[in-house]
Amino acid sequence: MAFSKVHNFNSGPAILPDEVFTQSAAAVVNYNGTGLSILEIGHRTPAFVNILTEARLLVRELLELKDEQEVLFLHGGASTQFMQVPFNLLDPKDCAAFADTGVWGQKAIKEAANFGRAEVVCSGKENGYTSIPKDFAVPHDAKYLHITSNNTIYGTQWKNIPATSNNLVVDMSSDIFSRTMPYSSYGIIYAGAQKNLGAAGVTLVVVNKNILGKTKRAIPTILDYNKHIEEGNLLNTPPVFNIYVCLLVLRWIKANGGIAAMEAQNKIKAELLYNYIDSSNIFTGTVAKEDRSMMNICFKCKDSSHEAAFLELAAAKNIVGIAGHRLAGAFRASLYNAMPLSSAEFLIQVMQEFEKSR
Ligand code: PMP
Repeated sequence: MAFSKVHNFNSGPAILPDEVFTQSAAAVVNYNGTGLSILEIGHRTPAFVNILTEARLLVRELLELKDEQEVLFLHGGASTQFMQVPFNLLDPKDCAAFADTGVWGQKAIKEAANFGRAEVVCSGKENGYTSIPKDFAVPHDAKYLHITSNNTIYGTQWKNIPATSNNLVVDMSSDIFSRTMPYSSYGIIYAGAQKNLGAAGVTLVVVNKNILGKTKRAIPTILDYNKHIEEGNLLNTPPVFNIYVCLLVLRWIKANGGIAAMEAQNKIKAELLYNYIDSSNIFTGTVAKEDRSMMNICFKCKDSSHEAAFLELAAAKNIVGIAGHRLAGAFRASLYNAMPLSSAEFLIQVMQEFEKSR
């Protein structure tokens, strides 16, 4: 059966390049002509070790990491990192600083408070997280400053992560590989794979090993970054298939010009949509212009009574995933790396059609 084109604006799990679907499907049947499915190969076999090695090297190359930064593919989603980061970095009397830019940051704060003092140095709560806080000070003794680089729910994004002498821990779940950033200067970067990197079930963690090994607390082996590093990311059975999907996406990013090229395309798509929203008589953006995300474009109808009808029209046009998060409401169009320009253009066309009909 032929499927008609679906324009997938889901926030995550999200769109991936078509060739990644084709290649990963083929690998489930017969991996690389081995006669074995990727689902049945051992994680210590040369076939998988080659996949893991190439994927880790490609992350290093694309993010331009320093030698002391280690690349790990771990289980547990980005949410596990809310706990694993403070477990590895904080003693009970230590303090960690947090920028509260919404739900994901708050979850990180809540978990860190189980391990030390979690100090909120700025918050966008008062304005409903529609902008990124600008002026704040980080205590000198804070072991790290935690930031959510892109706030998937509200559609805000840090354009400049503040200079600080504290280690930076950055949750980049929804914008890693989407833009050039000083990735090599960060203490820890983590990202659930299911937006720009692959399928749900694996989390990328990049950790500068110089910041590890300083706490006195006992860390359970499976949560100890140092143990994963020592074992070459094979401390236990890693998510074999998910890492393979990440490898395919990383190859696709490289073949398509790397992060700078992704960023250039992402800018074109996001600007096109924002420009239309700004010129529209019925739609309007929901966040401060200078903090608008290139990944998750949040908008609403000036008259909210139009919203149900727009969702209906979008569904009829095979546009999926544009309902806003249940906490934010209205609309959110996620324009991750794999989203073709033509789908962004199609969405605008449907929005224009809707506007004319009102
Ligand atoms: N951080 C951010 C910025 C997210 O968008 C999400 C969810 N998509 C998470 C953390 C939680 O990720 P996970 O579901 O992989 O735990």
